[in-house]
Amino acid sequence: MAQISVPSPADFHVHLRQGKLATLVTPHVREGGFALAYVMPNLKPPITSTAQALAYKAELEAIDPTVEYLMTLYLSPDLMPEEIVKAKEAGIVGVKSYPRGVTTNSDGGIESYEMYYPVFEAMQRVDMVLNLHGEVPSDAATNTHVLNAEPQFLPHLHSLHKAFPNLRIVLEHATTRAAISAVKACGPTVACTITAHHLALTVDDWAGQSFNFCKPVAKFPDDREALREVIWEGHSRFFLGSDSAPHPAHSKATSTPTQGCAAGIYTSPILLPLVAHLLESFGALDKLDGFVSTFGRRFYRRDLGAEQTDRVVLRKVSSIVVESTYGSGEDIVVPFWAGKEIGWKIV
Ligand SMILES: [Zn+2]
Repeated sequence: MAQISVPSPADFHVHLRQGKLATLVTPHVREGGFALAYVMPNLKPPITSTAQALAYKAELEAIDPTVEYLMTLYLSPDLMPEEIVKAKEAGIVGVKSYPRGVTTNSDGGIESYEMYYPVFEAMQRVDMVLNLHGEVPSDAATNTHVLNAEPQFLPHLHSLHKAFPNLRIVLEHATTRAAISAVKACGPTVACTITAHHLALTVDDWAGQSFNFCKPVAKFPDDREALREVIWEGHSRFFLGSDSAPHPAHSKATSTPTQGCAAGIYTSPILLPLVAHLLESFGALDKLDGFVSTFGRRFYRRDLGAEQTDRVVLRKVSSIVVESTYGSGEDIVVPFWAGKEIGWKIV
C-alpha cells in the first residue's frame, strides 16, 4: 500500500494547555492529521464549569478554527448535577476523573467515587460521557505503585459500570492486558482509548529516559502486545486517544535531586503518520480507519455524514526524520520519536 486515506481523524484525548503553550501546540492537532480534538480539562485552575469550558473552547478556536473541539469538565466536589444539565445543553461532551495526585495537575482529583453518584446519575440521564484516568494513587501500605496502579483501579471501573449501566464510560490510555480484558468484559457503554506511545514503549524505554515518562507508565512487553492485539482484531470499543501532553523541555529533562520530571509525551504534530507507522509494524494498517476515526466517532456519536469528505491522505515514504523540537526559547517542546524515522507522510 503506497497511499492510504482516512476519513476525518479524531483524537479522543488531548491536552492543549493554555496561554503561550496553547498557541504553540493547538495548530499541531491539524498538522498531525486530525480534525477533531477531545480536550482535557486539567488546566490551572481546572475546568470545572460550563462557562470556563466555553471560554477555553473560544480560546482554542481563536488559535485554530479548523479543528472541532469537544470539551470536558474536571470531576471535583464543586461539580453539581445542575451543572451537568447546563453543560450538556451547552454542548459539553464529557467529565474527566483524575484520582488525586497521580498525574499532571491532578491535586484536585477524586478519592472515592460514591460521593459523585448524584453527578453520575445526572450524566447518565442527560447522556454525557465519563472519562476515567484509570489508576489508583501509589500507597506503600497496600503495595500500590506505578506498575500495578491500573490493574488495581479496574474494580472501580466494574462497580461504576454496574451502578450506571447506561452511562457511557471511557477508560483512558489503557496500558495493561488486564485493562483490555476488563473493558472487553463490559457492555457496549464502556470503551477504551489507547495512545500511540503505549503501542511503542515498554518499561525499559522510560527507565532512565525522562522524555518517555508519562502516566500511566508503559508496562511490560506482554501488556504492549495486548494493546496491539485488540487493535489488530479491530475491536470497535478500542480507539485512539493520544494523551498528547506537551511540557516545556526543561521540565522533562530535570536533573535536580529535589524535583522530578513532568509526566507526559508529546505526539500531536506527528500523530497520524506515527500511528500508521506503528500499526503497520504489527500488521494492523488495515485497521487504521477504525482506530483513528470511525470507532471513536461512533461511540461519541460524532459519525461522519455522507457529505463529509474531509479525508486525510498518507503516502508511504522511505523515511521522514521527526523534528527534534517545536517552538523556541523557554517553551521548546520535544516530540515523541524525535530524531527517529517514520515511514508515512501526510500529503
Ligand atoms: Zn491525559
